[in-house]
Amino acid sequence: MFESLSERLESAFKQLKGQGRITEINVASTLKEIRRALVDADVHYKIAKEFTDRVKEKALGAKVLQAVSPGQLMVKLVQDELTALMGGQAASLSLEQKPSVILVVGLQGSGKTTFSGKLAYFIRQKLHKSPLLVAADIYRPAAIEQLKVIGQQIQVPVFSEEGLPAVEIARKAVTEAKNHGYQVVIIDTAGRLAIDEAMMQEVADIKAAVNPEEILFVADAMTGQDAVNTAKAFHDRLAFTGVVLTKMDGDTRGGAALSIKYTIQKPIKFVSAGEKPDTLDIFYPDRMAQRILG
Ligand code: GDP
Repeated sequence: MFESLSERLESAFKQLKGQGRITEINVASTLKEIRRALVDADVHYKIAKEFTDRVKEKALGAKVLQAVSPGQLMVKLVQDELTALMGGQAASLSLEQKPSVILVVGLQGSGKTTFSGKLAYFIRQKLHKSPLLVAADIYRPAAIEQLKVIGQQIQVPVFSEEGLPAVEIARKAVTEAKNHGYQVVIIDTAGRLAIDEAMMQEVADIKAAVNPEEILFVADAMTGQDAVNTAKAFHDRLAFTGVVLTKMDGDTRGGAALSIKYTIQKPIKFVSAGEKPDTLDIFYPDRMAQRILG
């Protein structure tokens, strides 16, 4: 599918063979290969450029030029730097409130509803807490039905109420959770195909009404570089607490993870790869770095 970065670096260094000493100038072509590999993996160009500038400094400091196998050392350097940039350690969910409220936001089609179901399953199976799903996408009856179907599959109750504004549904759901002892309320909000003031206002109103402990922004990894602009618009308005990258079962390398983390500085908490409820994974920066590099 893609040529891996290791392969690219190998050929870049091969070209340098026979030129005697590898010089700082020659390293520029290697950095170009790294940049290309990152852009192919959907990392935003500007970010790929800044990234390689940083790698260059480290590479020179680390005496890559004198190394026996400069190619391998470069790959290791790039991988470590990518891992560090994406947060180093895996991030966790904050679930201290009683009940904890998690708002799931993002564009329509990003995978919010599917993710909400997976998160409910994860919270019950892995964190041993009882979840309540809330259908707050009142503009698409199909979305409410979809959440109900998912709820049935995973045996998690779904709160919905016809004819009420989304904010009221969210408020009532939290009361319902308090009354019935659900520990985590997961609110699936409405998205639009593009960023839209009415959508943002509605989510901001829900946020103000239910004071969520986590606001998870769902991004379709396949949208690559666009995901950064969308993430920024959502973050400017809602100050979300974490990011979820969906559709990682597709053929993207997942560079959106790096771009979003780099731009917004909020942790990526989950990656989702498929439509089944158990295809949700905690985000591990080192694994993603490996995937991006190929
Ligand atoms: P929403 O509009 O944000 O709620 O998005 P949906 O959850 O309805 O997902 C939109 C489409 O993407 C649906 O057809 C889902 O089945 C599909 N989808 C969601 N998550 C994933 C995923 O991780 N992998 C794949 N392959 N498809 C997904």
